[in-house]
Amino acid sequence: MFDPNSPGLTVGVVGAGTMGRGIAQVCAVAGYKVMMHDSFPGVAQEGFDFIQKILARSVEKGRISSDAADETVARISLVDRLEYMAGCGLVIEAAAEIHEVKKDLFRELDEIVSEDAVLATNTSSLSVIEIAAATRLPERVVGLHFFNPPPLMALVELIFTIKNDHQLIDNIYNFVEKIGKTPIRIKDSPGFVVNHVGRALATESFAILSEGVAEPVDIDRILRDAAGFKMGPFELLDLTGLDISHPVTEQIFAQFYNDPFYRPSEIAEARVAGGVTGRKTGAGFYTYEGGKAVVPSEAAAPKVQNVDVWLDPKAPDHVGKVLTDAGANLTQAFDPPPTAVCVVTPLGCD
Ligand code: NAD
Repeated sequence: MFDPNSPGLTVGVVGAGTMGRGIAQVCAVAGYKVMMHDSFPGVAQEGFDFIQKILARSVEKGRISSDAADETVARISLVDRLEYMAGCGLVIEAAAEIHEVKKDLFRELDEIVSEDAVLATNTSSLSVIEIAAATRLPERVVGLHFFNPPPLMALVELIFTIKNDHQLIDNIYNFVEKIGKTPIRIKDSPGFVVNHVGRALATESFAILSEGVAEPVDIDRILRDAAGFKMGPFELLDLTGLDISHPVTEQIFAQFYNDPFYRPSEIAEARVAGGVTGRKTGAGFYTYEGGKAVVPSEAAAPKVQNVDVWLDPKAPDHVGKVLTDAGANLTQAFDPPPTAVCVVTPLGCD
């Protein structure tokens, strides 16, 4: 059985793009030997150079010694054929988010590695059991869902299916801890936990937008300022790219048998079709210049300087404070003055 403490354990990483190279780095930093493969010529080398650059930057900043960086890099080798991964005790797949691609890869890896080896997928939204079912030994297939960028994000979702044995999952849990991450065990289910919870934020924000209640910039501002999010939903969609997040929503919607709660937005569909997918294309819900968002001027909180404002006397005190601090001439008299803007704070009603 897979043992994260077995001496000389080598981890294979298939797909050396955004996620694969980060996962390879994390495993090598933790002391594991790593073999990295990408089917697109030159990408594995690009990934390797990227890891080297990141480690060199850590040396410059005094976070790690140059010996540690050299030793980490020396633990990573590049292979141009999957067959070279025959001796790997664990292979983590981070290739394209397409079921057929992943199933073909797992079918191939299943024939290459030993029966004790574990095969893990970094899928964000595909059914792990469906990938596992393409292999002879589905009981050794799990999900290891890292977040972007893997070296910085602590959480790893460890997805177990109806075929996995508890002991195996415990051992993989230990492996995730050994590479310095925080694992959570999650049943194989649509969107797992993070992408499942995250859908609510995106689908509800799209509903508000399509009903014309508010603009993206306002929805983002309100969720940052009032709900404490670091980024608003549309800022996050621009960062991830609608080309990535929209198909994930479509997957999750289908996996929940079209539960309307998860319905993807026609706004997203049109934007993907038009290539307006976010930061990487220079245009999304915001436009980008030099990688920075150009925020429209109406994004600032509305100005109420010297405006007469009547506030519902039953409103919470902090609402009055916000208005006064913003310079409003505030009154909470029983009857609103005829010139005043009236502010009420309904909860749950129109
Ligand atoms: P990416 O496009 O940056 O990298 C994927 C790499 O896989 C490419 O370099 C491609 O050449 C390679 N590849 C494709 N088919 C292959 C094959 N058959 N054999 C070997 N290599 C192959 O994609 P990514 O963002 O790194 O995503 C990889 C996986 O990680 C996807 O399943 C994605 O859903 C998941 N994921 C992505 C993120 C994210 O924020 N990008 C976060 C969590 C999980």
